[in-house]
Amino acid sequence: MNAQTDTLPPIEITPKDISAYRTGNRGVDYVHTLESGRPGPHVIVNALTHGNEFCGMVAVTHLLEQGIRPLRGKLTLVFANVDAYHRFDPASPFDSRFVDRDFNRVWDDDTLEGPDATVDVKRARALRHIYAEADALIDLHSTTYAVPPMLIHEPHAKIEPLSRHLHSPLHHLLLPGVKHPGRPLIQYGAFGDPRATPVALVVECGQHFARTSGEIAISVTMRFLDFFGLIPTDLAAQYPAEAGQPKRYEVTDVLVAKTDQFRFTAPFIGFEEVPGGTLIATDGSEEIRAPAQGCTIIMPARRPTKGRDVLSLAQRLQ
Ligand SMILES: [Zn+2]
Repeated sequence: MNAQTDTLPPIEITPKDISAYRTGNRGVDYVHTLESGRPGPHVIVNALTHGNEFCGMVAVTHLLEQGIRPLRGKLTLVFANVDAYHRFDPASPFDSRFVDRDFNRVWDDDTLEGPDATVDVKRARALRHIYAEADALIDLHSTTYAVPPMLIHEPHAKIEPLSRHLHSPLHHLLLPGVKHPGRPLIQYGAFGDPRATPVALVVECGQHFARTSGEIAISVTMRFLDFFGLIPTDLAAQYPAEAGQPKRYEVTDVLVAKTDQFRFTAPFIGFEEVPGGTLIATDGSEEIRAPAQGCTIIMPARRPTKGRDVLSLAQRLQ
């Protein structure tokens, strides 16, 4: 067995019953749009892009339970891949990331308008017109391993003021262009267009089942809503950014397993800096080595699977 698959982490947060939120007001289950009645941006808080990443569910249920209403514009709250969420099994907690197809790898027209009939793609089709309305979207995720939380976004000038305002998590990962096999939600339509104004970013809030991941998701969401003027600044001030300078990285490669014999050479968890030439993994007979200048390992897969992305490589920016 690969060293990556040996132990299960403690499960400090488990799925809440969200059935009370099933019927929203958009004609699509688990979607709620709150209108201020005043001009302003349409801002979306998106939870459960991955079914076993509970921090977004914690943040969205917090907003609903607290009765947060937008001061201006509109606020839409989405529980995205609820079918995957409802399949959570604590005995195999990594298996409910999606049902049949990764909801965060389908955001291109070929997939959305193609023949794929998986429940995950059907859900994406049901939600796409809602995401297309957004001026801004925060997509709340968590990580397999307990690595530092991170912001992930395109290196577009349009998103820099938001990224600076959020400030923390203090690891910022710039993802230039489509590098994954299948387009992630933050690169869908206008989000991925540097000339269009809508912005989207991912926050990886920590390990999937850690209590702190839910707390970080709430905190960063409140600062996100404050940036767009949707909540009072003194409320957001109760959720301050962490002190310290962000560490910035740029993703240079996203590696996809070509065989079912992909093996890491060490139990990497993410953010290891490896010298140029280091043997990171083997994929069948192929060796995966760090580029000459060295690299930082980002989000190695716990269970590498043929045809899926299994690892990103990044360069630290000065
Ligand atoms: Zn995720």
